[in-house]
Amino acid sequence: MSRNCAIILAAGKGRRMVRSINKQYLNINEYPILYYTIKAFTKCDCIDEIIVVAAEGEVDYCREEIVEKYNFLKVKDIIVGGKERQDSVLKGLLAVSNCEIVLIHDGARPFVNESIIKDAVFYANLYGATACGVRPKDTIKIKDSSGFSLKTPKREILFCVQTPQAFRYNLILSCHKKINSDGIKVTDDTMVVEQYGNKVFLYEGSYDNIKVTTPEDLAIGKQILDKNHC
Ligand code: C5P
Repeated sequence: MSRNCAIILAAGKGRRMVRSINKQYLNINEYPILYYTIKAFTKCDCIDEIIVVAAEGEVDYCREEIVEKYNFLKVKDIIVGGKERQDSVLKGLLAVSNCEIVLIHDGARPFVNESIIKDAVFYANLYGATACGVRPKDTIKIKDSSGFSLKTPKREILFCVQTPQAFRYNLILSCHKKINSDGIKVTDDTMVVEQYGNKVFLYEGSYDNIKVTTPEDLAIGKQILDKNHC
């Protein structure tokens, strides 16, 4: 059995949420979003250690209002994130210890479940790099800069990637260091390993595993919680 660490990212500004408080600390039903996220990883036997990446100035709040308040003992450290998501990930990678498989997860995805986390560990051991996701329900267009449709990829080959994304630790650390020194911008961690020729196995996640991004997502999140009796 590998030693598996999770990095939970909560250092984003969440401007699309239009609230002064960081979106990860907003409540859905009676608990903050980040509570549900950390709880999902804490509950999972296959996770040995968790690092939470918080925004500058929010580390104490995160410790007191989430990690200590709910006694999340698997959280080994809360560290300060960086300017972009990829900077926060690199800092998180440097903070984990003695890790073979690392799972990188958006703090803003509180509805991740145990089977998605277990599958991430399983496929990362098997293939080195993996991400969950879902098939798009809509037809997806490529749009040009004037607002017109350029083309329509076949829906069967498209996949909406979520987190967790999981990797062999040495692979993702070396690729993140390279992409940082090459100055390439990415929006997720699958792109980081792909950039250097590595394949990423994509497995079925869940339509519930949404990223809480805009105010409407809070209402959708409540429905997901109520449906799952959380
Ligand atoms: O901005 P976006 O919604 O893509 O962020 C995804 C996740 O990455 C969020 O959980 C956010 O808190 C985190 N993030 C971070 N550090 C940043 C930017 C985003 O930890 N600089």
